[in-house]
Amino acid sequence: MSAPATLFASAIGAAAVTHTDSGPLQGRHMPVVTPGNVAECVEVVRIAARERIALYVRGGGSEPRTAKHEGPAALLCTTRLDQVIDHARDDLTFTAEAGLGLTAAQALLRTHGQRLPLSSRHAASTLGGILTRDAEGWTRKSCGMVRDQILGCTVVLGDGRVITEGSRLVKNVSGYNLTRLFGGARAAFGVVLSLTVRLKAQPQARRVSWHGAANPAAAFALAAQMHASIADAEVVRVRIEHSTTGQKCAVVLSLAGAKARVDEACAQADKLAGAPMLLPAAALQEGGTPQCVIEVRPADTSAATQALLAQAHCGSIDADIATGTVELLAPSAPTWTTAALQTLDSSLRGLEALVTFPANPDAANLQRNCCATPNPQVHSLLRGMAQRFDPSGVLEPGMHSWK
Ligand SMILES: Cc1cc2nc3c(=O)[nH]c(=O)nc-3n(C[C@H](O)[C@H](O)[C@H](O)COP(=O)(O)OP(=O)(O)OC[C@H]3O[C@@H](n4cnc5c(N)ncnc54)[C@H](O)[C@@H]3O)c2cc1C
Repeated sequence: MSAPATLFASAIGAAAVTHTDSGPLQGRHMPVVTPGNVAECVEVVRIAARERIALYVRGGGSEPRTAKHEGPAALLCTTRLDQVIDHARDDLTFTAEAGLGLTAAQALLRTHGQRLPLSSRHAASTLGGILTRDAEGWTRKSCGMVRDQILGCTVVLGDGRVITEGSRLVKNVSGYNLTRLFGGARAAFGVVLSLTVRLKAQPQARRVSWHGAANPAAAFALAAQMHASIADAEVVRVRIEHSTTGQKCAVVLSLAGAKARVDEACAQADKLAGAPMLLPAAALQEGGTPQCVIEVRPADTSAATQALLAQAHCGSIDADIATGTVELLAPSAPTWTTAALQTLDSSLRGLEALVTFPANPDAANLQRNCCATPNPQVHSLLRGMAQRFDPSGVLEPGMHSWK
């Protein structure tokens, strides 16, 4: 066993420490440490801080990532932190450990007619990963942003201090809400141990429909009209089936909510687009792992889709106009030649796009970040905050441009 592996194994047991070569430090073997409870997780972070062992945090592992770091390192896996702590049915709050999977949490809540206002297409996604990644899934239009759903969290900071911020009350706002700091920070400031999320009732009625369009421009125009005018639209997506022989374009619309309102919204949608083809609700989750994902500002969804259409010669493209996410599902992986990537980069220039290739074995190498270079003053502030939260710099060094 390597020195870090031995240290962690002696603290939390050898069974919780295994070996892998698939961490974000490419080509390097590092131990995978999977604490069985919150106390063990805190202990792992304290050891890492004391011994200066870099920790890379993984929930469900859905996001391909890469970092540069020399020196001892370990992968901290949260999947055994999966206990439900509290389900306050009447207060509409749910508190659980951060490694609990979204799928498992939703299945439990469904039996009570409730749901978490969070979504992910990855079966393995954990609540902690969703909070700290703060990406927007298809629930954004109907429920709001991820960080708005989180009422509080308990976090172990990089030096082993444990802080609890927020509370389990829906109306708990007094002063600054530090919980928001961890939304989108990934593990740069701390490892989330548990969190409290708002609950919503399961919708009484839902209809998922497919509205054909003549071409991508017509589909985007129709989607924009639906997005702007139908209040109960849960999802508005443009779907383009693309092959060497042509394109089939449509808007996929999901309406969900109280029955009377859904009926009203159906009539509104059908007036705009004509009688649709109805799809099963599961059609929203269909897919598998996309070959390419482009995340842009919602207003740039159409432009990002055009850029992808020019490079991918077959496959199905789903463009969510509320979140600005464009995904390519292809029957076989397109060859991302240097020339194709350069063309994609140049057509996305000015859009502040983040491009990932989740289904590709070289995902982390191919990833492109066309976002504007952040302000050096902001970088310096972020660095200062990281020093307060993680004074030894052991949490995910080399992962963020500012840390
Ligand atoms: C194709 C694609 C589609 C996506 N669609 C969605 C979507 O619909 N909705 C959505 O919300 N997101 C989406 N994402 C973003 C991301 O994959 C999810 O947010 C993801 O589900 C995160 O959960 P995870 O457990 O897999 O996290 P991981 O992939 O394991 O980790 C993601 C990040 O979170 C950090 N992290 C994980 N757990 C913790 C913790 N306990 N404490 C601190 N940091 C932690 C990791 O360090 C890493 O930086 C998508 C990503 C891709 C590539």
